[in-house]
Amino acid sequence: MEQWQKLLSGSVVKVEDLPFLSNTSEEYKEKLRKVSKIFPIRINSYFLDQIKEENDPMWKQVVPTLAELDDFISDEESLDLDPLNEEGDMPVPELVHRYPDRVLLMVNNQCPIICRFCTRKRKIGFPGIVTRETLRLGIEYIRNHPEIRDVILSGGDPLLVPDKELDRILGELRSIPHLEIIRIGTRVPGTLPQRITENLCSILKKYHPLYFNIHFNHPAEITPEVEKACNMLADIGIPLGSQTVLLEGVNDDAEVMRELMHKLLKMRVKPYYIYQADMTMGTDHFRTTVEKGLQILKDMQGHTSGMGVPYFVIDTPGGGGKVRLLPNMVVEHNEKEVVVRNYEGKVFRYPQPSKKSARKKMGTPDSQEHTVSANTCQLPA
Ligand SMILES: *Cc1c(COP(=O)(O)O)cnc(C)c1O
Repeated sequence: MEQWQKLLSGSVVKVEDLPFLSNTSEEYKEKLRKVSKIFPIRINSYFLDQIKEENDPMWKQVVPTLAELDDFISDEESLDLDPLNEEGDMPVPELVHRYPDRVLLMVNNQCPIICRFCTRKRKIGFPGIVTRETLRLGIEYIRNHPEIRDVILSGGDPLLVPDKELDRILGELRSIPHLEIIRIGTRVPGTLPQRITENLCSILKKYHPLYFNIHFNHPAEITPEVEKACNMLADIGIPLGSQTVLLEGVNDDAEVMRELMHKLLKMRVKPYYIYQADMTMGTDHFRTTVEKGLQILKDMQGHTSGMGVPYFVIDTPGGGGKVRLLPNMVVEHNEKEVVVRNYEGKVFRYPQPSKKSARKKMGTPDSQEHTVSANTCQLPA
């Protein structure tokens, strides 16, 4: 058994073994057991070591609370076990085809830790959802659809698939001529960095262009082990991006986000997305207001390099896909000029080209779709 497999098999999966529980009454634990039946517990031994105390940002991400059960017994209709309606966009099981040219393929439904705010609570940690057969059908679907030029391997975590099997899956995908890009969505480098082995790297580097999007939520996740794992991946030429979920009490703070993004850039990970938390049943206590996310973006934009400011997105409930939001930096906009505010709050004017030349270059600017204000979002100053 390799080191990462030992760390994984030593995972905390039972209420009795949860770290730093101040309320240890039998009654409380019994309720937590109910929570864990609906949504299992997993904290691998490496991640367990990163938890320093009750309610710290690492603890909150993986230790269940009764708030998860509250959402289930309320009749709040807006909370759902499939808030993004992924099941509605699955032409074959466990493959989501939502956008014209790219698909998401689940290759596994196990994870190195089970995040309490997971958007796929309905699948993760339960046996028999992703199988060899669903995988075969998914790959066949991609092969039969030449418009698909980009696949995101997700799950679950694709990197918990054994080396040989991963090699086979990547090899089959690479044999599809129209598939240009393969992406791997993973939380492994930040939560079980020992999984990034020399052998894994020797497999991955055969399948370029291969991109990674790595899930990171808090600067404390970036340890020397994690730095080493990301460096190994960057050294074999994999462009690394990050995805972060905005979580109340974990990272809903501009200072924390800025520190996280700076640490990511130092490991050659380019911040890609910050997600507004999905409306997943049992995760309501993690949600922040949308204004919070916009304010965090506003507090980062201009104050740090543009490289370190990810896109802030809402993955729209019901399956409309991701929508990018920006803090509104436009004061006024008309045919003559655009008036904008910079990061220091100072106001600047940009005169539009004269009407005649503007018409010649870009047509009559009468469609609201392409106006500046349509691309911005209101944020109270
Ligand atoms: C996020 C997502 C993608 C990829 O979106 P990009 O914006 O291209 O990164 C593809 N399919 C589904 C279902 C997604 O949720």
